[in-house]
Amino acid sequence: MNPGRLKQYLEFYRDLGVKTIYKRAVQTRGEPSAEGAAVIPANTLPPLAPSGDTLLKILEDIGDCRRCRLHEGRTRLVFGVGSESAPLVFVGEGPGADEDAQGIPFVGRAGQLLTQMIENTARKEGIPLSREEVYICNVVKCRPPGNRTPEPDEMEICGQFLYRQLTTIRPKAICALGGTAARALTGHKEGVTKMRGRWFDWRGIPVMVTYHPSYLLRPYNQDAKREAWEDMKKVLHFVYD
Ligand code: URA
Repeated sequence: MNPGRLKQYLEFYRDLGVKTIYKRAVQTRGEPSAEGAAVIPANTLPPLAPSGDTLLKILEDIGDCRRCRLHEGRTRLVFGVGSESAPLVFVGEGPGADEDAQGIPFVGRAGQLLTQMIENTARKEGIPLSREEVYICNVVKCRPPGNRTPEPDEMEICGQFLYRQLTTIRPKAICALGGTAARALTGHKEGVTKMRGRWFDWRGIPVMVTYHPSYLLRPYNQDAKREAWEDMKKVLHFVYD
C-alpha cells in the first residue's frame, strides 16, 4: 500500500480506537511520505501466515486490493475492528451498504442488533463487556453487489487474510454469524439451523455458530432470536467466565 494511503487507513483505525495498530505503525514507520498507489496484481497473495504477523502487516498486504471482482463496486474496504488481543472474534459474511460507506463492519441495522446482542446479553449475565472489546470482521472485505452471497473464489482469496487475522489474534473463541461464515470456517455444508448452538473447530479454536443478525431482523423470526440469545450466552460464558 502506498504510504499516504496507509497513513489514512491507520488514522482511520486509530479513530476507531484500534490503538495497538496505530501505535505500532508510528513506532516502526515514523511519518510516511506520499508516493504513487501500488496496484496489486490479480491473485497475488502473500504467504499464508508470515511469522511475526500483525493486523497492521495484514492491512498493508491487502493494500488497495484488486485480487477479486468485489473491488470493482467497493467504496471502502472493511478490514475489521477491535483489539489485536480480543479473546472473542465475531465473523460475518461481508459488508453491506452502510459498512461499505463507513469502512467499519456491522454498523447498519444488523450491526446495531449485533451490538445489542453482545452488550445486553453480557449485562444480563453479569459480564462487563462492550462491543469495543471484541473483534469483528467478515469472510469478505468488500461489499458483494446487491448484498449477494460471496462466491467461492472470492471467499477463498479474501479468506487468506481472514486466516491471518484469526491466527494473529488467536482468540479463545470465534462466533460465526450465519451460514456463510459457519461454512467458511468449519467446512461443514449443513444449514445454519442445524449448526447453530453447537461448537466446531477452527485450527484449535472453538467456533460457536449462530444466526446472522440480518436474519433475526425479519419479523417472523422470534424463535430464532431466542435461540441466538442462547448461543450468545454460551459463547460469552465460555470466553469470559
Ligand atoms: N452483514 C455482514 O455480514 N457483515 C457486516 O459487516 C454487515 C452486515
